[in-house]
Amino acid sequence: MDDLILALGRIVGSAHVLTADAITPEYTHDEALTVAAVTPRAVVRPGSTEDVSAILALCDQQRVPVAARGGGTGLSGACTPLPDGIVLSLERMRRIVEIDGENQCAVCEPFVRLAELYAAAEDRQLMYPIVPGENSATVGGNVGTNAGGMQAVKYGVTRHQVLGLTAVLASGEVIRAGGKFVKVASGYDLTQLIIGSEGTLAIVTEVILKLVPRLPYRSTILAPFHTLEEVTRSVPKLLALGRQPLMLEYIDLMTMASILQRSGMDLGVPQEIRDRALAYLVIVTEGRDEERTAEDAQALGEHCQELGALDVFMLPSQAGRKLIEAREQSFWAAKAAGAGEIIDVVGPRAQIAAFVERASQVAQRNAAFVVGCGHAGDGNVHFAIFHGEAEVRNAVVRELLQTGIELGGAISGEHGIGLAKKAFYMEFEDPVRLALQRRIKAAFDPHNTLNPGTIFD
Ligand SMILES: Cc1cc2nc3c(=O)[nH]c(=O)nc-3n(C[C@H](O)[C@H](O)[C@H](O)COP(=O)(O)OP(=O)(O)OC[C@H]3O[C@@H](n4cnc5c(N)ncnc54)[C@H](O)[C@@H]3O)c2cc1C
Repeated sequence: MDDLILALGRIVGSAHVLTADAITPEYTHDEALTVAAVTPRAVVRPGSTEDVSAILALCDQQRVPVAARGGGTGLSGACTPLPDGIVLSLERMRRIVEIDGENQCAVCEPFVRLAELYAAAEDRQLMYPIVPGENSATVGGNVGTNAGGMQAVKYGVTRHQVLGLTAVLASGEVIRAGGKFVKVASGYDLTQLIIGSEGTLAIVTEVILKLVPRLPYRSTILAPFHTLEEVTRSVPKLLALGRQPLMLEYIDLMTMASILQRSGMDLGVPQEIRDRALAYLVIVTEGRDEERTAEDAQALGEHCQELGALDVFMLPSQAGRKLIEAREQSFWAAKAAGAGEIIDVVGPRAQIAAFVERASQVAQRNAAFVVGCGHAGDGNVHFAIFHGEAEVRNAVVRELLQTGIELGGAISGEHGIGLAKKAFYMEFEDPVRLALQRRIKAAFDPHNTLNPGTIFD
């Protein structure tokens, strides 16, 4: 057995260092569609911040690359290890340390899965509002990717909920940034710098997350439109009403058909409307008062009709919940149908209609099939790209990302860059910003130990 494996065993106990056949396939990849699996030299499972610190100090000294892994549900290949590196799996650090009702926050170890946090917050009449749609994801992974999801239009993304964190630098030094307070003006904001850094700057070993009061009522409306452009054009106008929807999602015809088929749902939309509708808006409102929540939904629905919706359906609460659950399955539906890549371009809301129009031209010109759904309220479009030839598919992805940037947006709104989008990021990112990021990376991690080659080379 090599010296590194023995030394890692002395830190965490040999039962928590997996090598060779003990490394099961799940440690070799995440859910990215275009990133190949890689088997690492070892999988190491620390049980505490002290363990993480000792592992990183050792790996940094021996120049062994470290890929942090949470639930492995990421969509950009950002927890894929290197063959000579280790996977640092946080799976033993899964304690909800505290739900603090008075300060409305949760203190969590990194491997707390979202489903567990939702349940613990609910027990205290509170809610953790970040819902990226995959409840087996962990809070550490959410911090790593700055996860968003369907409720971001009202509550923002992970970075808006993180009050503070404990993190271990590549050297093994431990830092605590932020705390149980909602504002701070004391030096550079290291918490925010680490959020979204995809495991390249530090390993997060504890997170303090803001919770919000749980509002008991929800109303869901479904508005079919003739075209996707009409849907995306309506979004800024609907938000201008000030009714603060909890979710404002678009689903195109093909995606709606496939998620309904997967879930076995019938929304009761008459055939003559289904025949004409190429896209749907789903709007959810929430509130403390049942009548006012329904009134908000109704006002949004009436405005949809003024904006050209073919009809508006107020869904009964169970159907509304089922539709949102079905929408969460859209990635699996696209994967099952043979999608070659999923992209999540984000842009200014008012430019999304132009983006969608240009995307359909790109698809037509390349004889590719581009369909999807997305967080319309955030200007975050999720497209699944279908084409038999990888080269054409890649060219389509490249052109769509470039178009998003030209319209004032960015390559990814929430899935991250990882390995999957790295080549495009390095091509399109402003060289001055890229150089500054390299200097920041070198300040945190001078030997390039943490997730080397992720985001940029
Ligand atoms: C069906 C499906 C739907 C999804 N929908 C959405 C969506 O709507 N919105 C959205 O934002 N995402 C979505 N995702 C992507 C995914 O759920 C998120 O990226 C999530 O944040 C990943 O969490 P994880 O625990 O699985 O992290 P992993 O995939 O394990 O890791 C993600 C990144 O975080 C790093 N990391 C993990 N733990 C730590 C740590 N403790 N310290 C430092 N870095 C760490 C990893 O190195 C990697 O770079 C979806 C995924 C699936 C499969």
